[in-house]
Amino acid sequence: MILDKKKYDLPKGELERYYGLPADVNFCSKCVMSNQRPASAIEFKHTIDSKKTTMAFDSEGVCDSCRNGEHKDRIDWTKREEELLQLLDKYRRTDGGYDCLVPGSGGKDSAYQAHVLKYKYGMNPLTCTWPPILYTEYGYKNWKNWVDSGFDNIAWNRNGKVMKLLTKLSIENLFHPFQTFILGQKNLAPKLAAKFDIPLIFYGENEAEYGNPIADNTTSLRDKSYFSYKNLDDIYLGGISVAELKEKHGLGYADISSFLPPTEDEIKGKNIEVHYLGYYLKWTPQEVYYYAVENTVFKARPFRTQGTYSKYNSIDDKIDDLHYYTTHIKFGIGRATYDASQEIRNKHITREEGVALVNKFDGEFPDKYFNEIMEYLDINPDYFREELSNRFRSPHLWGINNDKDWKLRHTVMKLGLDD
Ligand SMILES: [Zn+2]
Repeated sequence: MILDKKKYDLPKGELERYYGLPADVNFCSKCVMSNQRPASAIEFKHTIDSKKTTMAFDSEGVCDSCRNGEHKDRIDWTKREEELLQLLDKYRRTDGGYDCLVPGSGGKDSAYQAHVLKYKYGMNPLTCTWPPILYTEYGYKNWKNWVDSGFDNIAWNRNGKVMKLLTKLSIENLFHPFQTFILGQKNLAPKLAAKFDIPLIFYGENEAEYGNPIADNTTSLRDKSYFSYKNLDDIYLGGISVAELKEKHGLGYADISSFLPPTEDEIKGKNIEVHYLGYYLKWTPQEVYYYAVENTVFKARPFRTQGTYSKYNSIDDKIDDLHYYTTHIKFGIGRATYDASQEIRNKHITREEGVALVNKFDGEFPDKYFNEIMEYLDINPDYFREELSNRFRSPHLWGINNDKDWKLRHTVMKLGLDD
């Protein structure tokens, strides 16, 4: 069922653009990413200012991530490792106390981070986990094997009832199943670091790869308002304000505090530095994968992930697959586009191969866990597929083919409705 067909049947110049996305769809000439990609994984409200927050393409049509990738080849990694050693020497503790915090799920990246910090550089990391909403069996095993390979871990099992409601609201209001999940995940590490007096937080790859605007190598919690808040009213969860959450859903501060950044009081007087290990060590996803397999018994998903061709990225939550389905609806960018772009940058596949993979897998409906997720969230599966997912298709990206099927107007293979 297609609602509001007229909207999608207008001349190009009159087609509505949702989320402030750029009017013209372009694809990077090096990878397969499009210029419709939001720069931040977290959308607080349901608008994106395209000037600030979609990924930039330069005059030669190359995306930011590819330019960063080229830059990586010119980096003196020996010198960067020396910088790391200096940093670690400054904070390394020998009295048994934790000297760094590694947030992660036990996926390949966090497994690698924690393992090199402890066993190669002699640090004493505490690991912390914001667990998936719906663990996959192999995701849970990876987490367990990670901890069993030699780490203390705090798994923050937030209020399940609230997580469920916020996820449902995030889907209904933003079509972004992980919006509140990501917020909680991001905010957990600084709060724990403050609580346990841990001076260093290590994330993995520099987030510029995924387009986070706070991608400088180091940030101090005290300098970044991003990590703390003064006014609770400025915060939106699942597309609605904290005040509305209280009024309509009866959620008070105690219910949502797990999702919020630390308060200024919580981090007062604490000197916590945030670093990306990917700044200091050359980060190649496939090598990181092999390292994790060898050292923390990491196992890839036993079957291909729907919507893409890979088996080892983001596999611990059953909702992951659905999340990438929503990015395909909203931005025309599915999971194969993300995976292939990264592998092209790392020279594991050619652009031509990437284009073929995107053409084959992007936007594939993730039905494997779909009914289970809908049941868990109490959302009618037909409502999701027939109504909700169509409501979020921007007319400048999607058209109607033969009066009945949705089709992207532009694809990287130039097979779109308007190509
Ligand atoms: Zn690119």
